[in-house]
Amino acid sequence: MASNRDLALEAIAPYQDRPLGHFIGGKDAEGIGQSFDVLDPSTGKVLGQCSDATEEQLEAAVASSRQAFPGWVAMPAEDRRKILNRVADLIVANADKIAGVECLDAGQCYRFMSKAAIRGAENFRFFADRAPSAADGLALPTADHLNYTSRRAIGPVAVITPWNTPFMLSTWKIAPALAAGCTVVHKPAEWSPYSARLLAEIALEAGLPAGVFNSVNGLGETTGKRLTEHKDIKAIAFVGESSTGSAIMRQGAATLKRVHFELGGKNPVIVFDDADLDAALDAAIFMIYSLNGQRCTSSSRLLVQASIYEEFVAKAAERVRKLRVGDPFDPASEVGPLIHPKHFAKVSSYMDIAVADGARIAAGGKPVAWAEGFYFEPTLLADADHTMRIAQEEIFGPVLTAIPFDDEADAVAKANDVEYGLAAYLWTSDVGRALRVSDAIEAGMVWVNSENVRHLPTPFGGTKASGIGRDGGDWSFDFYMETKNVALSRGTHKTQRLGV
Ligand code: NAD
Repeated sequence: MASNRDLALEAIAPYQDRPLGHFIGGKDAEGIGQSFDVLDPSTGKVLGQCSDATEEQLEAAVASSRQAFPGWVAMPAEDRRKILNRVADLIVANADKIAGVECLDAGQCYRFMSKAAIRGAENFRFFADRAPSAADGLALPTADHLNYTSRRAIGPVAVITPWNTPFMLSTWKIAPALAAGCTVVHKPAEWSPYSARLLAEIALEAGLPAGVFNSVNGLGETTGKRLTEHKDIKAIAFVGESSTGSAIMRQGAATLKRVHFELGGKNPVIVFDDADLDAALDAAIFMIYSLNGQRCTSSSRLLVQASIYEEFVAKAAERVRKLRVGDPFDPASEVGPLIHPKHFAKVSSYMDIAVADGARIAAGGKPVAWAEGFYFEPTLLADADHTMRIAQEEIFGPVLTAIPFDDEADAVAKANDVEYGLAAYLWTSDVGRALRVSDAIEAGMVWVNSENVRHLPTPFGGTKASGIGRDGGDWSFDFYMETKNVALSRGTHKTQRLGV
Protein backbone atom coordinates (compact mmCIF):
# COMPACT_ATOMS: atom_id res chain seq x y z
CA MET A 1 0.00 0.00 0.00
CA ALA A 2 1.28 3.47 -0.91
CA SER A 3 2.35 5.56 2.08
CA ASN A 4 0.84 9.00 2.63
CA ARG A 5 4.13 10.53 1.55
CA ASP A 6 3.97 8.52 -1.70
CA LEU A 7 0.41 9.69 -2.27
CA ALA A 8 1.45 13.30 -1.75
CA LEU A 9 4.46 13.00 -4.03
CA GLU A 10 2.28 11.42 -6.68
CA ALA A 11 -0.15 14.35 -6.38
CA ILE A 12 2.55 16.91 -7.09
CA ALA A 13 4.38 14.75 -9.67
CA PRO A 14 2.78 16.52 -12.67
CA TYR A 15 4.55 19.71 -11.52
CA GLN A 16 8.00 18.25 -11.19
CA ASP A 17 9.21 18.97 -14.70
CA ARG A 18 7.24 22.19 -15.14
CA PRO A 19 6.10 24.89 -12.73
CA LEU A 20 2.70 24.64 -11.10
CA GLY A 21 0.50 27.02 -13.05
CA HIS A 22 -3.12 28.05 -12.60
CA PHE A 23 -6.62 26.72 -13.06
CA ILE A 24 -8.66 29.00 -15.27
CA GLY A 25 -12.02 28.30 -16.93
CA GLY A 26 -11.90 24.64 -15.89
CA LYS A 27 -8.49 24.07 -17.46
CA ASP A 28 -4.86 24.01 -16.51
CA ALA A 29 -3.13 27.27 -17.44
CA GLU A 30 0.58 26.76 -17.85
CA GLY A 31 3.00 28.41 -15.47
CA ILE A 32 4.62 30.81 -17.94
CA GLY A 33 5.22 33.68 -15.52
CA GLN A 34 8.14 34.20 -13.17
CA SER A 35 8.58 31.01 -11.14
CA PHE A 36 9.67 30.52 -7.56
CA ASP A 37 10.68 27.51 -5.44
CA VAL A 38 8.30 25.59 -3.23
CA LEU A 39 10.15 23.99 -0.33
CA ASP A 40 9.67 20.87 1.76
CA PRO A 41 9.87 22.36 5.28
CA SER A 42 10.92 19.04 6.78
CA THR A 43 14.07 18.77 4.63
CA GLY A 44 14.60 22.28 3.29
CA LYS A 45 14.81 20.80 -0.22
CA VAL A 46 13.02 22.16 -3.25
CA LEU A 47 9.79 20.27 -3.99
CA GLY A 48 9.15 22.05 -7.25
CA GLN A 49 8.47 25.39 -8.83
CA CYS A 50 5.33 27.47 -8.82
CA SER A 51 4.60 30.26 -11.23
CA ASP A 52 3.39 33.81 -10.66
CA ALA A 53 0.36 34.45 -12.89
CA THR A 54 1.06 36.85 -15.73
CA GLU A 55 -1.16 39.92 -16.02
CA GLU A 56 -2.94 38.25 -18.95
CA GLN A 57 -3.56 35.09 -16.95
CA LEU A 58 -4.95 37.04 -14.02
CA GLU A 59 -7.15 38.94 -16.45
CA ALA A 60 -8.33 35.61 -17.96
CA ALA A 61 -9.16 34.20 -14.52
CA VAL A 62 -11.25 37.23 -13.58
CA ALA A 63 -12.93 37.25 -17.01
CA SER A 64 -13.73 33.58 -16.63
CA SER A 65 -15.34 34.16 -13.23
CA ARG A 66 -17.29 37.11 -14.62
CA GLN A 67 -18.60 35.09 -17.57
CA ALA A 68 -19.54 32.14 -15.38
CA PHE A 69 -21.41 34.28 -12.82
CA PRO A 70 -24.80 34.75 -14.56
CA GLY A 71 -25.21 31.02 -15.17
CA TRP A 72 -24.09 29.99 -11.70
CA VAL A 73 -26.23 32.52 -9.84
CA ALA A 74 -29.26 31.60 -11.95
CA MET A 75 -28.83 27.87 -11.40
CA PRO A 76 -31.53 26.50 -9.06
CA ALA A 77 -29.99 26.50 -5.59
CA GLU A 78 -31.00 22.88 -5.19
CA ASP A 79 -28.64 22.02 -8.08
CA ARG A 80 -25.84 24.08 -6.51
CA ARG A 81 -26.46 22.14 -3.33
CA LYS A 82 -25.99 18.81 -5.14
CA ILE A 83 -22.78 19.87 -6.88
CA LEU A 84 -21.25 21.27 -3.67
CA ASN A 85 -22.17 18.12 -1.77
CA ARG A 86 -20.37 16.14 -4.48
CA VAL A 87 -17.32 18.35 -3.84
CA ALA A 88 -17.59 17.33 -0.18
CA ASP A 89 -17.83 13.63 -1.12
CA LEU A 90 -14.75 13.90 -3.32
CA ILE A 91 -12.79 15.71 -0.61
CA VAL A 92 -13.56 12.79 1.71
CA ALA A 93 -12.52 10.30 -0.99
CA ASN A 94 -9.23 12.21 -1.45
CA ALA A 95 -8.67 13.11 2.21
CA ASP A 96 -5.42 11.12 2.57
CA LYS A 97 -3.94 12.74 -0.51
CA ILE A 98 -4.99 16.24 0.61
CA ALA A 99 -3.62 15.69 4.11
CA GLY A 100 -0.39 14.34 2.65
CA VAL A 101 0.09 17.37 0.43
CA GLU A 102 -0.37 19.65 3.46
CA CYS A 103 2.32 17.65 5.31
CA LEU A 104 4.61 17.92 2.31
CA ASP A 105 4.55 21.61 1.48
CA ALA A 106 3.17 23.16 4.70
CA GLY A 107 5.04 20.87 7.12
CA GLN A 108 1.89 20.29 9.17
CA CYS A 109 1.59 17.02 11.08
CA TYR A 110 -0.54 14.28 9.61
CA ARG A 111 -2.48 13.73 12.84
CA PHE A 112 -3.98 17.22 12.45
CA MET A 113 -4.13 17.40 8.66
CA SER A 114 -6.18 14.23 8.26
CA LYS A 115 -8.86 15.88 10.42
CA ALA A 116 -8.43 19.22 8.65
CA ALA A 117 -9.14 17.61 5.26
CA ILE A 118 -12.36 16.11 6.59
CA ARG A 119 -13.25 19.49 8.08
CA GLY A 120 -12.83 20.94 4.58
CA ALA A 121 -15.52 18.49 3.38
CA GLU A 122 -17.75 19.44 6.32
CA ASN A 123 -17.44 23.10 5.38
CA PHE A 124 -18.66 22.30 1.87
CA ARG A 125 -21.53 20.15 3.15
CA PHE A 126 -22.62 22.73 5.69
CA PHE A 127 -22.90 25.54 3.17
CA ALA A 128 -24.17 23.31 0.34
CA ASP A 129 -27.15 22.33 2.44
CA ARG A 130 -27.90 25.97 3.19
CA ALA A 131 -27.66 27.09 -0.46
CA PRO A 132 -31.43 26.70 -1.04
CA SER A 133 -32.21 29.15 1.78
CA ALA A 134 -29.32 31.57 1.22
CA ALA A 135 -31.47 34.08 -0.70
CA ASP A 136 -34.27 34.07 1.89
CA GLY A 137 -35.16 37.37 3.49
CA LEU A 138 -37.61 38.97 5.88
CA ALA A 139 -41.11 40.35 5.60
CA LEU A 140 -41.23 43.80 7.26
CA PRO A 141 -44.80 45.02 6.72
CA THR A 142 -46.27 48.42 7.58
CA ALA A 143 -49.86 49.59 7.29
CA ASP A 144 -49.24 50.97 3.79
CA HIS A 145 -46.50 48.76 2.36
CA LEU A 146 -45.31 45.24 2.33
CA ASN A 147 -41.52 45.41 2.62
CA TYR A 148 -39.72 42.22 1.86
CA THR A 149 -36.02 41.53 1.63
CA SER A 150 -34.11 39.02 -0.42
CA ARG A 151 -30.43 38.36 -1.06
CA ARG A 152 -28.48 37.81 -4.23
CA ALA A 153 -24.86 36.83 -4.72
CA ILE A 154 -22.61 39.89 -5.05
CA GLY A 155 -20.69 38.65 -8.12
CA PRO A 156 -17.18 37.29 -8.71
CA VAL A 157 -15.13 37.40 -5.50
CA ALA A 158 -11.46 36.95 -4.60
CA VAL A 159 -10.39 34.55 -1.88
CA ILE A 160 -6.81 35.03 -0.68
CA THR A 161 -5.45 32.57 1.87
CA PRO A 162 -2.30 31.94 3.96
CA TRP A 163 -0.06 28.90 4.29
CA ASN A 164 -0.74 27.58 7.77
CA THR A 165 -3.60 25.14 7.04
CA PRO A 166 -4.07 25.97 3.38
CA PHE A 167 -6.77 23.57 2.23
CA MET A 168 -9.11 23.71 5.21
CA LEU A 169 -8.86 27.47 5.55
CA SER A 170 -9.67 28.07 1.91
CA THR A 171 -12.84 25.94 2.15
CA TRP A 172 -14.23 28.24 4.89
CA LYS A 173 -14.33 30.97 2.31
CA ILE A 174 -14.83 29.19 -0.99
CA ALA A 175 -17.71 26.93 0.11
CA PRO A 176 -20.06 29.72 1.30
CA ALA A 177 -19.14 31.94 -1.66
CA LEU A 178 -20.09 29.20 -4.13
CA ALA A 179 -23.19 28.20 -2.17
CA ALA A 180 -24.34 31.83 -2.22
CA GLY A 181 -24.00 31.90 -6.02
CA CYS A 182 -20.74 33.83 -6.32
CA THR A 183 -17.95 32.77 -8.63
CA VAL A 184 -14.47 32.68 -7.14
CA VAL A 185 -10.88 33.47 -8.02
CA HIS A 186 -8.70 31.91 -5.33
CA LYS A 187 -5.10 32.86 -4.70
CA PRO A 188 -3.41 30.43 -2.33
CA ALA A 189 -0.22 31.30 -0.45
CA GLU A 190 3.01 31.04 -2.40
CA TRP A 191 4.72 28.85 0.22
CA SER A 192 2.08 26.08 0.10
CA PRO A 193 0.31 26.15 -3.28
CA TYR A 194 -0.28 22.46 -4.07
CA SER A 195 -3.46 21.56 -2.20
CA ALA A 196 -5.39 24.42 -3.87
CA ARG A 197 -4.87 22.66 -7.19
CA LEU A 198 -6.39 19.49 -5.73
CA LEU A 199 -9.49 21.48 -4.74
CA ALA A 200 -9.81 22.92 -8.26
CA GLU A 201 -9.58 19.44 -9.78
CA ILE A 202 -12.09 18.04 -7.31
CA ALA A 203 -14.52 20.88 -8.03
CA LEU A 204 -14.34 20.19 -11.76
CA GLU A 205 -14.85 16.46 -11.24
CA ALA A 206 -17.85 17.22 -9.01
CA GLY A 207 -19.52 19.04 -11.90
CA LEU A 208 -18.84 22.66 -11.01
CA PRO A 209 -19.23 24.52 -14.32
CA ALA A 210 -15.99 25.83 -15.84
CA GLY A 211 -15.11 29.32 -14.63
CA VAL A 212 -17.12 29.15 -11.42
CA PHE A 213 -13.95 28.37 -9.49
CA ASN A 214 -10.58 29.61 -10.72
CA SER A 215 -7.28 29.36 -8.92
CA VAL A 216 -4.30 31.59 -9.65
CA ASN A 217 -0.89 31.19 -8.09
CA GLY A 218 1.61 33.88 -7.41
CA LEU A 219 3.07 36.39 -5.07
CA GLY A 220 1.07 38.75 -2.91
CA GLU A 221 2.65 41.89 -4.27
CA THR A 222 1.95 40.97 -7.90
CA THR A 223 -0.93 38.53 -8.41
CA GLY A 224 -2.57 39.22 -5.04
CA LYS A 225 -2.39 42.96 -5.57
CA ARG A 226 -3.78 42.82 -9.11
CA LEU A 227 -6.65 40.64 -7.99
CA THR A 228 -7.64 42.98 -5.16
CA GLU A 229 -7.45 46.00 -7.47
CA HIS A 230 -9.51 44.44 -10.25
CA LYS A 231 -12.76 46.29 -10.97
CA ASP A 232 -14.70 43.10 -11.77
CA ILE A 233 -13.95 41.54 -8.38
CA LYS A 234 -16.75 42.62 -6.09
CA ALA A 235 -15.47 41.47 -2.72
CA ILE A 236 -12.30 40.16 -1.10
CA ALA A 237 -12.26 37.45 1.52
CA PHE A 238 -8.77 37.52 2.99
CA VAL A 239 -7.02 35.47 5.66
CA GLY A 240 -3.51 36.50 6.62
CA GLU A 241 -1.46 39.05 8.46
CA SER A 242 -2.94 42.27 9.80
CA SER A 243 -0.45 44.40 7.84
CA THR A 244 -1.45 42.63 4.60
CA GLY A 245 -5.10 43.26 5.44
CA SER A 246 -4.48 46.96 5.65
CA ALA A 247 -2.54 46.90 2.34
CA ILE A 248 -5.48 45.10 0.72
CA MET A 249 -7.88 47.67 2.09
CA ARG A 250 -5.84 50.38 0.35
CA GLN A 251 -5.57 48.38 -2.86
CA GLY A 252 -9.33 47.78 -2.95
CA ALA A 253 -10.27 51.34 -2.02
CA ALA A 254 -10.38 52.74 -5.55
CA THR A 255 -12.96 50.15 -6.61
CA LEU A 256 -14.84 50.27 -3.27
CA LYS A 257 -14.30 46.60 -2.50
CA ARG A 258 -16.25 44.90 0.21
CA VAL A 259 -13.70 43.20 2.48
CA HIS A 260 -13.77 40.41 4.99
CA PHE A 261 -10.55 40.04 6.97
CA GLU A 262 -9.37 37.26 9.24
CA LEU A 263 -6.05 38.47 10.53
CA GLY A 264 -3.49 37.86 13.23
CA GLY A 265 -3.91 37.07 16.90
CA LYS A 266 -2.11 37.13 20.23
CA ASN A 267 -4.68 35.15 22.10
CA PRO A 268 -4.67 34.80 25.89
CA VAL A 269 -5.43 31.63 27.80
CA ILE A 270 -6.32 32.84 31.31
CA VAL A 271 -5.98 30.28 34.09
CA PHE A 272 -7.53 31.17 37.45
CA ASP A 273 -6.48 29.28 40.58
CA ASP A 274 -9.93 27.68 40.95
CA ALA A 275 -9.77 26.01 37.51
CA ASP A 276 -9.41 22.34 36.64
CA LEU A 277 -5.67 22.82 36.24
CA ASP A 278 -4.93 19.52 34.48
CA ALA A 279 -7.55 20.23 31.84
CA ALA A 280 -6.35 23.83 31.49
CA LEU A 281 -2.79 22.63 30.96
CA ASP A 282 -3.85 20.10 28.30
CA ALA A 283 -5.78 22.78 26.44
CA ALA A 284 -3.09 25.45 26.70
CA ILE A 285 -0.44 23.05 25.38
CA PHE A 286 -2.70 21.84 22.57
CA MET A 287 -3.70 25.31 21.43
CA ILE A 288 -0.16 26.63 21.04
CA TYR A 289 1.89 23.63 19.93
CA SER A 290 -0.54 21.90 17.56
CA LEU A 291 -0.13 23.06 13.94
CA ASN A 292 3.45 24.01 14.90
CA GLY A 293 2.08 27.12 16.57
CA GLN A 294 1.20 28.45 13.12
CA ARG A 295 -2.39 28.98 14.06
CA CYS A 296 -4.33 32.24 14.23
CA THR A 297 -6.30 31.10 17.27
CA SER A 298 -3.26 29.72 19.12
CA SER A 299 -3.18 30.42 22.85
CA SER A 300 0.14 32.23 22.58
CA ARG A 301 -0.12 34.12 25.90
CA LEU A 302 -0.48 32.02 29.04
CA LEU A 303 -1.86 34.26 31.81
CA VAL A 304 -1.71 32.38 35.12
CA GLN A 305 -2.89 33.58 38.53
CA ALA A 306 0.14 34.37 40.70
CA SER A 307 -0.89 31.93 43.46
CA ILE A 308 -0.45 28.93 41.11
CA TYR A 309 1.94 30.47 38.58
CA GLU A 310 5.23 28.76 39.58
CA GLU A 311 3.76 25.27 39.78
CA PHE A 312 1.66 25.61 36.61
CA VAL A 313 4.56 26.95 34.56
CA ALA A 314 6.88 24.20 35.83
CA LYS A 315 4.35 21.58 34.74
CA ALA A 316 3.92 23.28 31.39
CA ALA A 317 7.70 23.29 30.84
CA GLU A 318 7.84 19.57 31.57
CA ARG A 319 5.13 18.88 28.99
CA VAL A 320 6.78 21.14 26.40
CA ARG A 321 10.06 19.21 26.70
CA LYS A 322 8.20 15.97 26.06
CA LEU A 323 6.41 17.10 22.89
CA ARG A 324 7.20 14.75 20.03
CA VAL A 325 8.91 16.76 17.31
CA GLY A 326 9.29 14.87 14.05
CA ASP A 327 8.50 14.11 10.44
CA PRO A 328 5.06 15.54 9.62
CA PHE A 329 4.08 12.22 8.00
CA ASP A 330 4.83 10.22 11.15
CA PRO A 331 1.46 9.76 12.89
CA ALA A 332 3.27 10.03 16.24
CA SER A 333 4.66 13.53 15.49
CA GLU A 334 3.03 16.32 17.45
CA VAL A 335 5.15 19.23 16.20
CA GLY A 336 6.65 19.54 12.73
CA PRO A 337 8.86 22.11 11.03
CA LEU A 338 8.12 25.78 10.44
CA ILE A 339 7.01 26.63 6.92
CA HIS A 340 10.00 28.51 5.47
CA PRO A 341 13.51 29.74 6.32
CA LYS A 342 12.20 33.33 6.48
CA HIS A 343 9.57 32.36 9.01
CA PHE A 344 12.12 30.22 10.89
CA ALA A 345 14.38 33.29 11.15
CA LYS A 346 11.46 35.38 12.44
CA VAL A 347 10.48 32.85 15.13
CA SER A 348 14.15 32.32 16.16
CA SER A 349 14.72 36.05 16.47
CA TYR A 350 12.26 36.26 19.36
CA MET A 351 14.58 34.22 21.60
CA ASP A 352 17.15 37.04 21.83
CA ILE A 353 14.35 39.57 22.17
CA ALA A 354 12.84 37.57 25.05
CA VAL A 355 16.12 37.38 26.96
CA ALA A 356 17.05 41.00 26.26
CA ASP A 357 13.66 42.10 27.59
CA GLY A 358 14.14 40.07 30.78
CA ALA A 359 12.07 36.91 30.20
CA ARG A 360 13.36 33.39 30.92
CA ILE A 361 13.52 30.51 28.44
CA ALA A 362 11.91 27.74 30.51
CA ALA A 363 11.92 25.13 27.70
CA GLY A 364 13.23 24.91 24.14
CA GLY A 365 14.51 28.10 22.58
CA LYS A 366 16.75 26.65 19.85
CA PRO A 367 16.61 25.12 16.39
CA VAL A 368 16.15 21.34 16.60
CA ALA A 369 19.71 19.96 16.46
CA TRP A 370 19.06 16.69 14.63
CA ALA A 371 16.84 18.02 11.88
CA GLU A 372 17.79 19.29 8.44
CA GLY A 373 14.53 21.17 7.84
CA PHE A 374 13.12 24.28 9.52
CA TYR A 375 12.41 22.70 12.90
CA PHE A 376 12.36 24.91 15.96
CA GLU A 377 12.08 23.48 19.47
CA PRO A 378 8.72 23.91 21.19
CA THR A 379 9.48 26.82 23.48
CA LEU A 380 8.12 28.22 26.72
CA LEU A 381 9.10 31.76 27.66
CA ALA A 382 8.37 32.41 31.32
CA ASP A 383 8.20 35.32 33.76
CA ALA A 384 7.31 37.76 31.03
CA ASP A 385 5.72 41.12 31.53
CA HIS A 386 2.64 41.76 29.37
CA THR A 387 4.28 44.78 27.74
CA MET A 388 7.27 42.83 26.34
CA ARG A 389 7.45 42.23 22.60
CA ILE A 390 7.04 38.46 23.14
CA ALA A 391 3.72 39.28 24.84
CA GLN A 392 2.57 41.80 22.24
CA GLU A 393 3.66 40.52 18.81
CA GLU A 394 2.36 37.53 16.90
CA ILE A 395 5.27 35.07 16.72
CA PHE A 396 3.22 32.40 14.87
CA GLY A 397 5.43 29.51 15.96
CA PRO A 398 5.58 26.94 18.77
CA VAL A 399 6.36 29.60 21.34
CA LEU A 400 4.27 30.23 24.45
CA THR A 401 4.74 33.31 26.65
CA ALA A 402 3.78 32.87 30.33
CA ILE A 403 2.73 35.94 32.32
CA PRO A 404 1.52 36.04 35.96
CA PHE A 405 -1.54 38.04 37.03
CA ASP A 406 -2.98 38.95 40.44
CA ASP A 407 -6.75 38.99 40.24
CA GLU A 408 -9.68 39.17 37.84
CA ALA A 409 -9.22 42.85 37.04
CA ASP A 410 -5.50 42.37 36.41
CA ALA A 411 -6.19 39.35 34.17
CA VAL A 412 -8.67 41.30 32.05
CA ALA A 413 -6.40 44.34 31.82
CA LYS A 414 -3.41 42.25 30.71
CA ALA A 415 -5.48 40.13 28.33
CA ASN A 416 -6.84 43.24 26.62
CA ASP A 417 -3.60 45.19 26.45
CA VAL A 418 -2.66 44.07 22.91
CA GLU A 419 -3.53 45.27 19.44
CA TYR A 420 -5.19 41.98 18.56
CA GLY A 421 -8.57 40.60 19.59
CA LEU A 422 -9.25 37.29 17.89
CA ALA A 423 -9.82 34.53 20.47
CA ALA A 424 -9.53 34.12 24.25
CA TYR A 425 -9.60 31.05 26.46
CA LEU A 426 -10.68 31.20 30.05
CA TRP A 427 -10.35 28.58 32.78
CA THR A 428 -12.27 28.91 36.04
CA SER A 429 -14.83 26.95 38.04
CA ASP A 430 -16.67 30.14 39.05
CA VAL A 431 -19.59 30.64 36.64
CA GLY A 432 -20.09 34.28 37.61
CA ARG A 433 -16.45 35.05 36.93
CA ALA A 434 -16.63 33.19 33.61
CA LEU A 435 -19.49 35.46 32.56
CA ARG A 436 -17.87 38.66 33.81
CA VAL A 437 -14.50 37.98 32.19
CA SER A 438 -16.09 36.77 28.93
CA ASP A 439 -17.98 40.06 28.72
CA ALA A 440 -14.89 42.15 29.48
CA ILE A 441 -12.47 40.40 27.10
CA GLU A 442 -11.86 42.17 23.80
CA ALA A 443 -12.05 39.21 21.43
CA GLY A 444 -14.38 37.94 18.74
CA MET A 445 -14.49 34.47 20.30
CA VAL A 446 -14.17 33.27 23.89
CA TRP A 447 -13.97 29.65 24.94
CA VAL A 448 -14.65 28.91 28.62
CA ASN A 449 -13.07 25.76 30.01
CA SER A 450 -12.34 24.56 26.50
CA GLU A 451 -9.85 24.69 23.71
CA ASN A 452 -11.00 25.97 20.30
CA VAL A 453 -13.83 23.69 19.24
CA ARG A 454 -15.49 25.06 16.15
CA HIS A 455 -19.24 24.76 15.59
CA LEU A 456 -19.98 25.85 12.02
CA PRO A 457 -23.21 27.80 12.68
CA THR A 458 -21.37 30.08 15.14
CA PRO A 459 -19.57 33.31 14.15
CA PHE A 460 -15.81 33.08 13.67
CA GLY A 461 -13.69 36.23 13.49
CA GLY A 462 -11.84 38.89 15.38
CA THR A 463 -11.98 42.41 16.76
CA LYS A 464 -9.31 45.15 16.77
CA ALA A 465 -6.34 44.25 14.51
CA SER A 466 -7.61 40.67 14.20
CA GLY A 467 -10.20 41.27 11.57
CA ILE A 468 -13.35 42.64 10.07
CA GLY A 469 -16.45 40.50 9.64
CA ARG A 470 -17.47 37.01 10.67
CA ASP A 471 -17.44 33.61 9.03
CA GLY A 472 -19.82 30.78 9.74
CA GLY A 473 -23.56 30.26 9.61
CA ASP A 474 -25.48 33.05 7.94
CA TRP A 475 -22.67 35.56 8.60
CA SER A 476 -20.81 34.08 5.62
CA PHE A 477 -23.78 34.48 3.31
CA ASP A 478 -24.30 38.04 4.42
CA PHE A 479 -20.80 38.87 3.20
CA TYR A 480 -21.09 37.17 -0.18
CA MET A 481 -24.59 38.50 -0.91
CA GLU A 482 -26.34 41.82 -1.39
CA THR A 483 -29.58 42.40 0.48
CA LYS A 484 -32.41 44.06 -1.42
CA ASN A 485 -35.57 45.55 0.06
CA VAL A 486 -38.73 45.73 -2.04
CA ALA A 487 -41.52 47.99 -0.80
CA LEU A 488 -44.89 47.11 -2.33
CA SER A 489 -47.67 49.67 -1.83
CA ARG A 490 -51.03 48.48 -0.59
CA GLY A 491 -52.51 51.44 -2.49
CA THR A 492 -53.52 53.13 0.75
CA HIS A 493 -50.81 55.70 1.36
CA LYS A 494 -51.00 59.29 0.27
CA THR A 495 -48.16 60.66 -1.85
CA GLN A 496 -47.38 64.35 -1.19
CA ARG A 497 -48.48 66.30 -4.26
CA LEU A 498 -45.88 68.86 -5.28
CA GLY A 499 -46.19 71.47 -8.02
CA VAL A 500 -49.92 71.28 -8.03
P1 NAD B 1 0.27 36.99 4.61
O1 NAD B 1 -0.61 38.14 4.95
O2 NAD B 1 1.71 37.23 4.40
O3 NAD B 1 -0.24 36.28 3.27
C1 NAD B 1 -1.55 35.78 3.14
C2 NAD B 1 -1.92 35.80 1.67
O4 NAD B 1 -1.96 37.15 1.22
C3 NAD B 1 -0.95 35.07 0.76
O5 NAD B 1 -1.67 34.38 -0.23
C4 NAD B 1 -0.15 36.21 0.15
O6 NAD B 1 0.40 35.91 -1.10
C5 NAD B 1 -1.22 37.28 0.03
N1 NAD B 1 -0.72 38.65 -0.06
C6 NAD B 1 0.40 39.17 0.49
N2 NAD B 1 0.52 40.48 0.18
C7 NAD B 1 -0.57 40.80 -0.57
C8 NAD B 1 -1.03 42.00 -1.17
N3 NAD B 1 -0.36 43.14 -1.07
N4 NAD B 1 -2.18 41.97 -1.87
C9 NAD B 1 -2.91 40.83 -1.97
N5 NAD B 1 -2.51 39.65 -1.42
C10 NAD B 1 -1.36 39.64 -0.72
O7 NAD B 1 0.00 35.92 5.75
P2 NAD B 1 0.76 34.53 5.96
O8 NAD B 1 2.12 34.81 6.49
O9 NAD B 1 0.58 33.70 4.73
O10 NAD B 1 -0.15 33.86 7.10
C11 NAD B 1 0.03 34.02 8.45
C12 NAD B 1 -0.95 35.04 9.01
O11 NAD B 1 -2.29 34.63 8.76
C13 NAD B 1 -0.85 35.19 10.51
O12 NAD B 1 -0.88 36.54 10.86
C14 NAD B 1 -2.10 34.49 11.02
O13 NAD B 1 -2.57 34.90 12.29
C15 NAD B 1 -3.07 34.79 9.94
N6 NAD B 1 -4.20 33.86 9.97
C16 NAD B 1 -5.40 34.32 10.43
C17 NAD B 1 -6.49 33.46 10.53
C18 NAD B 1 -7.82 33.93 11.07
O14 NAD B 1 -8.80 33.23 10.90
N7 NAD B 1 -7.88 35.07 11.73
C19 NAD B 1 -6.34 32.13 10.13
C20 NAD B 1 -5.10 31.70 9.68
C21 NAD B 1 -4.03 32.58 9.59
